[in-house]
Amino acid sequence: MINIAIDGPAGAGKSTIAKKVAAKLSFIYVDTGAMYRAMALYLHRNGISADDTERIAAACTGAEISIEYRNGEQVVLLGGENVNPFLRTEEVSAMASKSSAVPQVRTRLVQLQQELAAAQNVVMDGRDIGTVVLPHAQVKVYLTASVEVRARRRFLELQEKGEPAVFETIAADIAERDHRDMTREVSPLKQADDAVLVDTSDMTIDEVTERILRIVEEKTGLLKGDSNV
Ligand code: C5P
Repeated sequence: MINIAIDGPAGAGKSTIAKKVAAKLSFIYVDTGAMYRAMALYLHRNGISADDTERIAAACTGAEISIEYRNGEQVVLLGGENVNPFLRTEEVSAMASKSSAVPQVRTRLVQLQQELAAAQNVVMDGRDIGTVVLPHAQVKVYLTASVEVRARRRFLELQEKGEPAVFETIAADIAERDHRDMTREVSPLKQADDAVLVDTSDMTIDEVTERILRIVEEKTGLLKGDSNV
């Protein structure tokens, strides 16, 4: 199987890019953040506080999380229920950022991720894919952008949707999540030694996609001779 790992901080454009790369290669796209979000939703629904590490560690074993693909889209099932519509709220984001630091949560989800990658060609994005989940991935990319740029992208996205947005608050929130992701004890976010760094601050989505497809070509020989790459 061919495994492509894309890691990086929140808002670097990982999911947008990973989806495009997967479509181009006809690979499955695996969004691991959505699994941590589904776990967070489960904990939230069970009335567990984001700071109660002990209860999170005990309760997480009860969450039945699985993945399906419907019309090419990843659907996360929690106890059989499609929970995709509930994964992007502020509450779930805040819970996921904390509960993902609990070792028992990671153990369960990493196992599921490894099973998916062993069974099919995948583009998988997250924080620890190249370092922990798929250390033998043929292609590893570390996608990043400055806090400024990531906050501006998020700000514009919210404005477009007509939702209230304050740039300074968004930037502070991103900086705080970076800090939490990078300093946690278990599987902190960091660039794998053999990952290629791609800073998207001054790049368009198409430029980033093309850059990654070229890295894939270089490392795997796939797409050779494809003039659209
Ligand atoms: O990428 P996304 O924002 O959807 O991730 C949700 C949460 O899950 C984040 O707080 C992130 O820290 C965590 N996460 C993780 N490991 C991954 C993917 C996401 O800890 N592989």
